[in-house]
Amino acid sequence: MSVAVTIESVEKRFQNFPALRGVSLDIQPGELVALLGPSGSGKTTLLRVIAGLEQAERGRVLFGDIDTRDLSLRDRRIGFVFQHYALFKTMTVGENVAFGLKSRPRGERPEPAEIRRRVAELLELIQLPGLEKRYPSQLSGGQRQRVALARALAIEPRVLLLDEPFGALDAKVRKELRAWLRQLHQRTGHTTVFVTHDQEEALELADRVAILSDGRLEQVGSPDDVYDHPATPFVCEFLGDAN
Ligand code: ADP
Repeated sequence: MSVAVTIESVEKRFQNFPALRGVSLDIQPGELVALLGPSGSGKTTLLRVIAGLEQAERGRVLFGDIDTRDLSLRDRRIGFVFQHYALFKTMTVGENVAFGLKSRPRGERPEPAEIRRRVAELLELIQLPGLEKRYPSQLSGGQRQRVALARALAIEPRVLLLDEPFGALDAKVRKELRAWLRQLHQRTGHTTVFVTHDQEEALELADRVAILSDGRLEQVGSPDDVYDHPATPFVCEFLGDAN
């Protein structure tokens, strides 16, 4: 099977500031790649370029062999989860999860019974079965992020983009969710890009880690690889003295 996402020499500037300076990365189908780097290194910008929320000045992003510039935002079919729960507060859990399905164009919109079945199935998957009627305010932070993930999965995304999804949670919940996400990913096999500045999270969760600094990709490799063989002085310092 072809590469799921190809990022080719992407450059992105804000005014004159180069946020991405020629980033290239291939992501395989079903792979979970962590974008790791300090604050301001360009992680979120790269996610937003993949999602089509920012346009690169140079370079391009392909899904399979399709140039994403030829796809509308809807046709990109991106599942996005943000750090701060982006659940709709006035909608129930069920309505939140169903949102992406209900907003499909008429011909592609599933019947209400099918939507209910899909929502129930997704709530099973995130281990919150039967909570359709609850409101986000009645859930814990960790539960809300799981619902946000179910909402992202409901559209059967080509690519799942997770931007510091556990960043607002306390350390214990974060650790639990990390293990949980790893299992979920093994079961569902979505091509996933996970942004974090937490190296422990990246190394534990990812198939491959891509380390960014100042808009450049410093190194890409398996967690063991980047840890045991840091390719640049930056990576060595960033991953710490354990090396
Ligand atoms: P990270 O996610 O690694 O913290 P970002 O991708 O958010 O980094 O930001 C990379 C750089 O681009 C930062 O210096 C940031 O200030 C700048 N930047 C990001 N978005 C904008 C914007 N909309 N306007 C101006 N500068 C931006």
